[in-house]
Amino acid sequence: MAVPAAPISFGPVLADLESRGLRRRRRTVQRRKPESAEIEVDGQRCVDFCSNDYLGLAAHPEVIAAFIDAARIHGVGARASHLITGHQAEHEALEQELAAFTGRERVIVFSTGYMANLGLVRALVPRGAAVYGDALNHASLIDGGRLSGAALHRYPHGDAAALERALAEQESGAAVVLTDGVFSMDGDLAPLPALAASCKRQGAFLAVDDAHGLGVLGATGRGVLEHFRLTELEVPALVGTFGKALGTFGAFVAGSAELIDTLVQRARTYMYTTALPPAVAAATRAALAVSVAEPWRRERVLALTRRFRQLARAAGIPLGASETPIQPILLGGADDAVRTSNALLERGFFVTAIRPPTVPAGTSRLRLTLSTVHRDIDVENLVASLAEALAPA
Ligand SMILES: *Cc1c(COP(=O)(O)O)cnc(C)c1O
Repeated sequence: MAVPAAPISFGPVLADLESRGLRRRRRTVQRRKPESAEIEVDGQRCVDFCSNDYLGLAAHPEVIAAFIDAARIHGVGARASHLITGHQAEHEALEQELAAFTGRERVIVFSTGYMANLGLVRALVPRGAAVYGDALNHASLIDGGRLSGAALHRYPHGDAAALERALAEQESGAAVVLTDGVFSMDGDLAPLPALAASCKRQGAFLAVDDAHGLGVLGATGRGVLEHFRLTELEVPALVGTFGKALGTFGAFVAGSAELIDTLVQRARTYMYTTALPPAVAAATRAALAVSVAEPWRRERVLALTRRFRQLARAAGIPLGASETPIQPILLGGADDAVRTSNALLERGFFVTAIRPPTVPAGTSRLRLTLSTVHRDIDVENLVASLAEALAPA
């Protein structure tokens, strides 16, 4: 090369983010009572309204005991990928229990939800196919579509008619439709019956990522498909994660034996990575069992959600259209969201500001989540503090 390559400099990138109020800073969190919602953020005590531990299972005694016992028996690391010697009895048992739970033929466990989506989409999409995704899909579904090499189409959020028009225009090749079940930043549900009907009429394959619905929605906590009474016929691929309502770590895809075996053969994020620690699989089995045995946890978090909305509405707080434990408070500007979040922290509540690129420009918000571990008084005090923080100065 006659001319040296241009140097890479990070300073301007960071300064630009800073000037637009978009520079992220991590906070160090400590928990003195892990079974409660009380945390310390940079040394300040507050109530955590950001965790995805909807059912309070992350520190459930049976989940902790299963984790510790399994670590004693199997050690900590899985030692290899699933296709070498990493696939152990705890993983196998978890897969079978999840297949029974979801009513599907087979399940495959991935190390994270991000990897499950990358692996699923890439393995699923044949050459010449097109991928259609909701405009507000989780980043991992979007990245899965990009990695698949297929032509990508994003349809307007929740718009089944727009999806159907786009599908009808496709001239050749297979079509795969990807959507969150519960949208992670807005808490609203995908219109799955209408999406499934469009897919059926147009011959498209529908995959749903139910990271936030599993354990929370449906008459028995089976998630968004149970909520809408949809089955494998309408939604042949279902993704779920363990890091949200189940309180552990990892993820799965459920489907037909053929679909799952295809993932074993072709999902690169499954083949080329170390298996989940077997103790995490054991803890997840315990969490799944508790979620089924203690339906009051689901009822409690949904009742708290209704209570929060009722109090917030009465206080004039701008709510979204969500009936799930994810409750966005739309503020618009990134600065407003950060300022309100800081004001809440001073009053003893941790609610993060969500800004671009996680959400579209102009839709910065607070995103708060409710959990079984919150007390009524926590929710009442939160709403009072929110009303104060949002009141014009
Ligand atoms: C959290 C989340 C994921 C990622 O799951 P991880 O196990 O945390 O990697 C995927 N999809 C959705 C919709 C999520 O909310």
